[in-house]
Amino acid sequence: MIAGGNNRIRLLEQSPAIEGQFSHFVENTDWQVVTQSHQEKTEQDVLRALSKNKLDVDDFAALISPVAEPYLLEMVTKSEKLTQQRFGNTLSLFAPLYLSNTCANECTYCGFSMSNAIKRLTLNESQVEKEITAIKTKGFDHILLVTGETNKVSMPYFERMIPLIKPHFSQLSMEVQPLAADEYKQLQTMGLDGVLVYQETYQRKTYLEHHLRGNKSNFNYRLDAPDRIGQAGIHKIGLGVLLGLEDWRTDSVMMAHHLRHLQKRYWRSRFSVAFPRIRPCAGGIVPKSVISDRQLVQLIAAWRLFDWDLEMSLSTRESPEFRHHAVRMGFTTMSAESKTQPGGYADDSQDALEQFEISDERPVAEIMAMIRQQGREVVWKDWDPALSHV
Ligand code: SF4
Repeated sequence: MIAGGNNRIRLLEQSPAIEGQFSHFVENTDWQVVTQSHQEKTEQDVLRALSKNKLDVDDFAALISPVAEPYLLEMVTKSEKLTQQRFGNTLSLFAPLYLSNTCANECTYCGFSMSNAIKRLTLNESQVEKEITAIKTKGFDHILLVTGETNKVSMPYFERMIPLIKPHFSQLSMEVQPLAADEYKQLQTMGLDGVLVYQETYQRKTYLEHHLRGNKSNFNYRLDAPDRIGQAGIHKIGLGVLLGLEDWRTDSVMMAHHLRHLQKRYWRSRFSVAFPRIRPCAGGIVPKSVISDRQLVQLIAAWRLFDWDLEMSLSTRESPEFRHHAVRMGFTTMSAESKTQPGGYADDSQDALEQFEISDERPVAEIMAMIRQQGREVVWKDWDPALSHV
């Protein structure tokens, strides 16, 4: 351990890169070369990508490059059409259930960071039951369990809570600290359907600048978590970068490499991606690379063209206006009326506990009306292949 900036401590224990896992790819990939892969794209590259059915990562880089901007309308139209073909006319709603805001990590962009002086709460059984009742009342049948990262909220806690939660929901996903493959396997036997582990950024130096303390500063261990999830045979694996920490185009190209890496090895799994942009939070930071609304639309359309079967999720971090227009684009799932503080559904008077500010605070009924207005039907379950209208 060494002293870092601002008298903070940085944990320097780093797992080695593992041959055959994505850490090995990252270790042997030059960030600058990946950056050039989108910076040097020409209009011809964009036209070629638009004419293809099976796109590779290089085509994806062309579609998110500035030279593709004049083709945005064509990309969005194609993206809408492909989404309808593969997923039907439906949009699935889910609710995040925050179980704990206790965290032993220090991430510069997060309100739950350990040095932030906020009230900490880990829900017990009766508090979880109250949350379940409040969430079920709103109609949700698919939830995402979210926690901070600490030993207090690890396998023994999950083993107590999952049997309590699972019987109430047909789909259960988790966004918690990276675990070992055998732990993922154990959770799967308890009914876990999906695990999301967002890498935040694939740029190691930037990653370490934003993850100052705790296990999350172990870059390779997090990077290889999706490999471990795949090895455990979990049904769905979710990827994401925090748009704004680094050059959003380079991070997105790296995530496209990550997806293809996983798809080759864990072909029985389904995959999802999300597009979180940095939001204000307690002690928050200014984004290094700002992605505009228009560029986010371009990125979303490029992902759909890159992978027709990919599930794509939109959170309440985005504004009502953006979500309104995004409904038709390429998304398959959306959160609604989210509370990012533990216990927030049963009692939402505890604003100070929030992980980040919610931008779209509209009630579920209003979100449903908006979705229907856009010509799409709401489904409460996670997307299922049986719903496909292919
Ligand atoms: S992003 Fe996650 S790990 Fe980092 S401080 Fe927030 S809750 Fe903890």
